[in-house]
Amino acid sequence: MKISLREHDLDSVVEIMKKEKIPGFRGKQIFEWMIKGVSSFDEMNNIPKALKEQLEEKFEVSNMSVVEKLESKSDGTKKYLMQLTDGNIIECVFMKYRHGNTICISTQVGCKMKCSFCASTLHGLSRQLTAGEMLGQILTVQHETGERISNVVLMGSGEPLDNYDEVMRFLKLVNHPKGLNIGMRSITISTCGLVPGIEKLMLEKLQITLAISLHATDNDKRSKLMPINKKYPIEMLLAVCKKYTNSTGRRITFEYALIAGENDSKEEAENLGFILRNIHCHVNLIPINPVIEKSFKATSLDNAKAFQTVLKRYNIEATIRRELGGDIDAACGQLRNKHINPTL
Ligand code: SAH
Repeated sequence: MKISLREHDLDSVVEIMKKEKIPGFRGKQIFEWMIKGVSSFDEMNNIPKALKEQLEEKFEVSNMSVVEKLESKSDGTKKYLMQLTDGNIIECVFMKYRHGNTICISTQVGCKMKCSFCASTLHGLSRQLTAGEMLGQILTVQHETGERISNVVLMGSGEPLDNYDEVMRFLKLVNHPKGLNIGMRSITISTCGLVPGIEKLMLEKLQITLAISLHATDNDKRSKLMPINKKYPIEMLLAVCKKYTNSTGRRITFEYALIAGENDSKEEAENLGFILRNIHCHVNLIPINPVIEKSFKATSLDNAKAFQTVLKRYNIEATIRRELGGDIDAACGQLRNKHINPTL
C-alpha cells in the first residue's frame, strides 16, 4: 500500500522525503501542493518529472476521489460522495454561512450507534476513518470549489468519540500553523453522548465547540431514539457536560432535532429548559430531516418558534437551524445509502 502524505504534517513529510534522499526544500514543495488539495503528483509543476515518477511509486498525495456531487439550487450547499482508496464511500457537505464556509465531515464509514432517525447507521459501521481521510475531505472540497473553508463540523456520518485517537490526530493536522491552520474555535465535535469520551476530551482543554445530540428530555424517549442512552442516561450525560463547561470554560451546544408528535410539545420544551437550566449552553433546534427509510416528520416552524420561546424563559439561547440542502439529501448518510442501495 502506498503511503498517504495527507496523514502527515510538514515536518513529517520533509522527514519522509529525506529518508528517500529527497532534499528538504522538495519536501516542502510537495507538502504545499498536498495542502492545496491536488489529486496527483503530476499536477506539481515545480517538481521534476523523474522525481514525480519516483514519488508516484511509493506515495499518494490524494486519498479519495469525488464520485458524485449534488448542488442545492436554493442555497449553494454542495454534497459530495467520495470514494476512498479501498473503495469505501463517504460523504461530506459544503455549506455557505454568513460567518464563513463550513464543511461537515464524516469521521467513520457508517456508524454503529443506531439512532433511530439517522440514515448513517442503517448499514452499521464499516471502518474508522484515518485523520488523513478526515483532512482529505476538506482538501478535496477546497480544491474542487476553489473556496477557502473556515469552519469544520464533525457532524457527518460516524461518531467522532468512537474514533477518538484519529479525531485528535486530525485536530492537530487541521490546526497546524503550517497546514490548513484552522483555529480550534472554528471546529465543532458532535457526539451522541459517549460519556467516557467526553471526560477524556475535557482533559485535552481544547478551544473546540462540543455539541451534544440530546433530542429528548426523558430516558424512555431518548433510549428509543438513541440506544446509546441505555448505557449513558441523561443524568450521567448532563453531569459530565456540566463538568466539561466548568473545566474548559467553553459553552456546550445541545442539538435537539424536532420530530413532529415525538419530542416537540410545549411540555417537552419546559422539560428541556429545566434540565439545562444550570449548564452554560446554547440549543440548536433542528427540524428533523425526514429520512426515506424512517417515518419521522419535521415539526412546523411555528412549533419550533414556540419551543424557542419557552427556552428563552429559562434564559437559554436557542437557534432554529436553517435547513440547508433539503433538496439534495443533505441529511447524514442519505446520499451514501442511495449509492449502496440504488432502489431507495
Ligand atoms: N455521531 C455524532 C455526529 C454525527 S450526527 C452525533 O450523534 O452527534 C450529526 C447530527 O445530526 C446529530 O445531532 C444527529 O443526531 C443529527 N441527525 C442525524 N440524522 C438526522 C436527521 N434525519 N435529521 C436531523 N438531524 C439528524
